[in-house]
Amino acid sequence: MNSSSVHNSQIPTEYESKHSKWIRKMLHAYWVVVIVHFLIQVGCYLFLKYDRALPDFIVNVLFWPTAISMVCILLASYVDRRFPSCSFTTMSVASTVIAWTIIHVNYDIRIMLAICLLPIFASVLFFNSKRVWFVFSLQMAGYALLLFDPAYRAYLNSFDMVSIPVFLILATYVAQIIVTSGVEVLEDLQQSMEAKQELIVRNAIIAKQSKTDGLTNLYNQSSFKDFYEKAIEYANSGMSLHLALIDIDNFKLINDTYGHRVGDIILEKVSRIIQESITASDIAARYGGEEFALLMLEQSFEQAYNLVEQIRQKISLMGHFELEGAAITVSIGLKGYNLNLSKDKLFEEVDACLYAAKRTGKNKTVTSLIPA
Ligand code: GH3
Ligand code: MG
Ligand code: MG
Repeated sequence: MNSSSVHNSQIPTEYESKHSKWIRKMLHAYWVVVIVHFLIQVGCYLFLKYDRALPDFIVNVLFWPTAISMVCILLASYVDRRFPSCSFTTMSVASTVIAWTIIHVNYDIRIMLAICLLPIFASVLFFNSKRVWFVFSLQMAGYALLLFDPAYRAYLNSFDMVSIPVFLILATYVAQIIVTSGVEVLEDLQQSMEAKQELIVRNAIIAKQSKTDGLTNLYNQSSFKDFYEKAIEYANSGMSLHLALIDIDNFKLINDTYGHRVGDIILEKVSRIIQESITASDIAARYGGEEFALLMLEQSFEQAYNLVEQIRQKISLMGHFELEGAAITVSIGLKGYNLNLSKDKLFEEVDACLYAAKRTGKNKTVTSLIPA
């Protein structure tokens, strides 16, 4: 795969913004290069035999190269702060000027040529082939410009003339290999991160699906049982708890008259009314086919009663287009938990209340057992 296209299309720009930190680090490194160069020159002048006159040394070896380098770094730092989109280009040009200025001053020290590797390897930080080639071109331009100096040209033999560009090409080739492998590593990392995110999302969906009912989006019977058990534990430590069972009246008739699909729509609508009526501390579940369970925590009996009555009335007042404008009704059994009851006993009593509501005319809330 083409590494530059990979970079341009797949590595997010946010990734590049992180490079601004590296640009600053590189600029710091260039400060070190300039200062070290200055100190070495002074040291060499003082302790080694240097065949330059002092004024010539101060002006041409110390002052100008240091001044040019400093201006370059300051300019690059300014551009990095004000125009971050241009900071790579400016940093590359600045580092090239610094490198070739130092090479020019020390052209008789062959190893100095290695300093032009610094801009090339700095460009690797961006994992972009085009940028590496751009910096390579800058080094070639720096070399070409230096050839205009007769003293430098006279110093080079024909082997040097050829070997310097070859040296730059080889260095760039190595840099390109690093870029390509870096892009591959980044791609792998990105892919595994995406796979991990997908897995997290899928697990969250599965976890939710296992707890909720597909048609109504309410909790299903099994998760309701877990909540119920926890709620009983809280209620045993003094918190108030009410349980209501809500059953749609004559639902079989709706299915038989209008079809199962309409029955489903009615179930969804009833669920929505229940869900919209309860507070965050209540738990609603689809307990069976057309039967819902409601756990109300931290509420007085009046509050719980008012809540279920509000639900019952809302449902009974809502006409349904699917039922030719007719409304449906629900019957409700409601009871509060007390320490004399067990989990199962409370459920049985609420169920008995619901049965009583059905038996005595439906569309009502029954809260205590009525003798048959
Ligand atoms: P009652 O007033 O006594 O509660 O009578 P009912 O007809 O509502 O009760 P019954 O238990 O006789 O019938 C319940 C019906 O609910 C039977 C079943 O086919 C239907 N049902 C159960 N689950 C679903 C469902 O998911 N979708 C639809 N459309 N119908 C369902
Ligand atoms: Mg019913
Ligand atoms: Mg039923």
